[in-house]
Amino acid sequence: MSKMTPRQVLNKVYGYRSFIGLQGAVIDCIMRGGSALALMPTGGGKSLCYQIPALCLDGTAVVISPLISLMQDQVSALKHLGIKAAALNSMLTPAQAREIYETLLGGGLDLLYVSPEKICAEGFLQTLSRVKISLFAVDEAHCISEWGHDFRPEYMQLKILRQSFPEVPLLALTATADAMTRKDIVKNLNMPHAEIFISSFDRPNITYAAAIKDKEKQQLLSFIETKHPSDSGIVYCLSRKRAETFADFLSEKGYNALAYHAGLDAEIRRKNQDIFTKKEGIIMCATNAFGMGIHKPDVRFVIHMDLPKSVEAYYQETGRAGRDGLPADAAMFYGVKDIAQLRNFIEVSNAPEAQKILERQKLKLLTAYAQSADCRRKMLLGYFAEDYRAPCNACDNCLTPPQTYDATVNVQKFLSCVFRVTGQSYAFGAQHIIDILLGKETEKIKKFNHGALSTYGIGKDCGENEWRAVSGQAVVTGLVKMDMEHSTLTLTEAAWPVLKGLERVELRKFAKPLTRKEKRKQPSAQMPAADTSLFEKLRKLRRILAERDNIPPYIVFSDKTLMEMAAFKPRTPEDFANISGVGAFKLQKYAKVFLEEINTAG
Ligand code: ADP
Ligand code: ZN
Repeated sequence: MSKMTPRQVLNKVYGYRSFIGLQGAVIDCIMRGGSALALMPTGGGKSLCYQIPALCLDGTAVVISPLISLMQDQVSALKHLGIKAAALNSMLTPAQAREIYETLLGGGLDLLYVSPEKICAEGFLQTLSRVKISLFAVDEAHCISEWGHDFRPEYMQLKILRQSFPEVPLLALTATADAMTRKDIVKNLNMPHAEIFISSFDRPNITYAAAIKDKEKQQLLSFIETKHPSDSGIVYCLSRKRAETFADFLSEKGYNALAYHAGLDAEIRRKNQDIFTKKEGIIMCATNAFGMGIHKPDVRFVIHMDLPKSVEAYYQETGRAGRDGLPADAAMFYGVKDIAQLRNFIEVSNAPEAQKILERQKLKLLTAYAQSADCRRKMLLGYFAEDYRAPCNACDNCLTPPQTYDATVNVQKFLSCVFRVTGQSYAFGAQHIIDILLGKETEKIKKFNHGALSTYGIGKDCGENEWRAVSGQAVVTGLVKMDMEHSTLTLTEAAWPVLKGLERVELRKFAKPLTRKEKRKQPSAQMPAADTSLFEKLRKLRRILAERDNIPPYIVFSDKTLMEMAAFKPRTPEDFANISGVGAFKLQKYAKVFLEEINTAG
């Protein structure tokens, strides 16, 4: 059979109408025998960049992938497109491995997934030299960089690919965009002439939001209740204990919540991840140990209950939402105390000064993001040196512009009150400062005779919530320092220019965002409104088929494909084939049952 062109493969095998982003350009480069580095965000469609050339070129494409679970998901998705693919890994029995080798040597594989260790294992390259290799693809290529976050020593050995197969096209792919990582990939894979493709890192279907913590469990719950009551999502937190706590809390409230962190048994982790992948409506409460292996396309929300490590890490983690292109949410709840604590950690640590500077800078960027009243997407993309023209209409600040006000006088009052109560051996917490400003008559105020202070009662024109917001923002912006043991406040150097009237302070007005239902932009794919009751029926059918074959539901069809079915209601196999995501194989396998469901639904 003569080989198809990339576009034919896209239409016939995958059932998609057109390439997205830089897919077409990357595929062209590989088809011409070139090598390339493709930087695309999560959900940017990286897999097709090597899968399509694999089907168009003669021979077998070898894909290097860091995680077994990832390979297995990809292979089973490919098999459900009628593509000949296999993965060699340590989970196979000798008989299974032998069978794969035989198929490979007989030229019967379009794609072979292997781990980096396997590539370097004794004799493996020799085996590969006996078959025609169409291309090498190195997935998650940032693992080769010591600079970034997922460094894997095994990846360093992949240099050998270029040496052993100089003529075979090599494609490296990653969702990490920074320049250092990019340089490392090109250098360490020995591909100086690679064409570099950098797509926009914007994820238009993700809505970003951030809010200060204030009864965090309640905030988490109402966010999920109002926006995603039956969806899959990830709740990220810093410690194992907190992951457990949130999982228990959400379970008590009737949600299907699981925990995932490095403290759990490997078997339990594997099981929980498997449930998350295969079932619908699971909430995973996890530390950042839950990461790279997740290719689930229908994660509808990612919530951070603690600050992530950096803005870059935040973007990676939130990027796990909405891979399928349908609307998704990324929310962050940040705590005043947490920020003060992180700041203290940096100061008291024994790290070299250069590292402290870097850590301070990272934290500063994060707090700036959390606090900002500007378009969040603009800030995030700015971090990747991308110039975005706000408003995006899909972040909290664009949807409901926060009210800011010139808070200089209020902040001065607050700081001045902190100054006045701070003695050589004692300091007070935010509540006491606020009580003084509001002119309350508490025991503590009586005891320390703080009613006599010049700042007593000078804040009566504002409410308690307003002052709490001032106090929180004074900590977050570093005007006051919070003692970790007693939560007491003292002024920092940065407070003086404000107190002296040399600097203005703009603050957000107190508001409780994030739980309101917002009107938002439709997802980028415009289509007629789906019939929701039909959509639910199709989902149910999909669930049954997925369970029967023990595969994740999205491998049967994505949510997006089901939505198109529920909107266009195809009646014949020809109409059915026109739905995006219905290729030849799935047409044959599923058209009959799905058409029956659509036709009986009327
Ligand atoms: P990445 O690996 O970059 O995160 P994937 O390759 O997993 O992204 O693709 C994300 C989703 O987009 C998948 O569900 C995939 O099937 C879908 N997709 C990829 N390319 C196209 C396309 N050209 N048209 C429609 N959907 C696409
Ligand atoms: Zn915005």
